[in-house]
Amino acid sequence: MADEKVIEETIILGTGPAGLSAALYAARADLKPLVLTGTEIGGQVALTDRIENYPGFPEGVGGNELAELFQKNAERFGARLEYDVATEVNLAQRPFSVKTYSKEFFAKTLLLTTGARSNKLNIPGENEFRGKGVSYCATCDGWFFKEKTVAVVGGGDSALEEAIFLTRYATSVTVIHRRATLRAGAILQKRANDNPKIHFIWDTEIANIEGVDGVERIRLKNVKDKKESEMNIDGVFIFIGHTPNTELFKGQIELDDKGYLVVDNHFRTKIPGVFAAGEVCDPYYRQVVTSAGMGAAAAIEATRFLENES
Ligand code: NAP
Repeated sequence: MADEKVIEETIILGTGPAGLSAALYAARADLKPLVLTGTEIGGQVALTDRIENYPGFPEGVGGNELAELFQKNAERFGARLEYDVATEVNLAQRPFSVKTYSKEFFAKTLLLTTGARSNKLNIPGENEFRGKGVSYCATCDGWFFKEKTVAVVGGGDSALEEAIFLTRYATSVTVIHRRATLRAGAILQKRANDNPKIHFIWDTEIANIEGVDGVERIRLKNVKDKKESEMNIDGVFIFIGHTPNTELFKGQIELDDKGYLVVDNHFRTKIPGVFAAGEVCDPYYRQVVTSAGMGAAAAIEATRFLENES
């Protein structure tokens, strides 16, 4: 006899702060959420060395540890984590279906919290020194560069905003941009230009990042005259954009021109019963606390949606 088709109340895709907070709220609403973990439990937070801006941890907390606490909290109320990766979703009809490497799952509602990934330079030393001087988040890691020198890569709003933020701690912030014109808006450009701690190196790319236990120096290459140079530095902050993890949903649901999921202010997508939260739909705030808050809100919305249906 064929297995009976089980239809879950809700399936959550992703286990970053948004996914695990959604799991906690959905579990406490007795939806018994099934959470597909993806490849990394905790998402980007688990890759962050230390988090000192998540409320409730005045001494800071390890990224991994915080992810584990989120998970425990959700599981305590009945969230079920399935250690599997979603490979295909079908949003065309309800119940929605989610295929993984091993099974096919069905649910009345879906919470999409697959997050985003920082774009990488893909240069030697970048992965090796991640968390040891290479960072993709000034708000998270800036404090560790008190009285140190840092380089910021990128010429957009993020790069300048984060460079300005880093001047609170670092003695000097060098923005390295591959062109001679910034993409960032005029106000940020003026603020950065007026800041005595910020310096610019134009038409230049980082060829590699070097050090022993942490970042010590970078090798630079001028893209015009091809001249190479070396610069001693304690940290490298990379802000060359983000890529939302929405490949799975393309063609089935509305994405904006940068590939982010489009939601309304109740975290609803245009497909009734499909909600999204966290960085998969948020290119602006990108903080653990904001993603966690969105996850909670999306789960509350899914709960109300199911209540209205019954
Ligand atoms: P962005 O605007 O796409 O800028 C990315 C920057 O990284 C560009 O300067 C780009 O150089 C550079 N870059 C890309 N790939 C690179 C590579 N492989 N090597 C070296 N440099 C590379 O990204 P963003 O700054 O994260 O901003 C994303 C969106 O959020 C934008 O719409 C922005 O306006 C918005 N935002 C707004 C604010 C604010 O209003 N306060 C703050 C943050 C972000 P090129 O210039 O040569 O392409």
